[in-house]
Amino acid sequence: MMFILASNNAHKHAEIGAILADMGVELVPQREAGCGFEVDETGETFEENAYLKAIAVTRATGLPAIADDSGLEVDALGGEPGVYSARYTGSHADSDADRCRYLLEKLGGAEQRSARFVSCICCTFPNGDVLCAKGVCEGAILRAPRGENGFGYDPIFLPEGYDRSMAELPPEEKNRISHRGRALAIFKKELRNYHAHK
Ligand code: IMP
Repeated sequence: MMFILASNNAHKHAEIGAILADMGVELVPQREAGCGFEVDETGETFEENAYLKAIAVTRATGLPAIADDSGLEVDALGGEPGVYSARYTGSHADSDADRCRYLLEKLGGAEQRSARFVSCICCTFPNGDVLCAKGVCEGAILRAPRGENGFGYDPIFLPEGYDRSMAELPPEEKNRISHRGRALAIFKKELRNYHAHK
């Protein structure tokens, strides 16, 4: 089964590819399928943005596409950065480390540090069918970055029940407990069901 990944994020490609590998899924990054564009993420929810990204790639290629829209919700910041996680500092040119630093500064010494990662997976087919799944990973924001693995806000996120940051976990362990891993576990069931009833 070949799916185009509606993203050019190498980290997402590695994580989603690893999690779907046991289903015989070949995941082709959108750029390799001739989609050089970036979709405007104009939706107000992760669900809407995941759909916008996937459907743009299916329309452009005529092939099934998978998109992940994800982000971090921090309770003491009223749910920020949420759907704006990738552009929180206002500039795409900033690095993940810049965004982590910016978030830590905004949160300051707040005692309430609860937060969650959210991932919405959306898969669009050329015949108009759509499959969607959502996963959440609860946790808390650390006071300083820790670890080198993963990407994005992983170094400042402590998953619930863990004493290591998300960036200190090996990739297999992150994929087992992460928002993306959970959303994809649901998506895999939906995909099996979809193929069984087609
Ligand atoms: P988008 O889904 O491409 O709009 O961007 C999601 C943004 O949320 C990423 O650029 C990261 O900043 C953040 N994010 C999403 N998933 C993760 C994750 O697994 N670890 C750390 N940060 C993440």
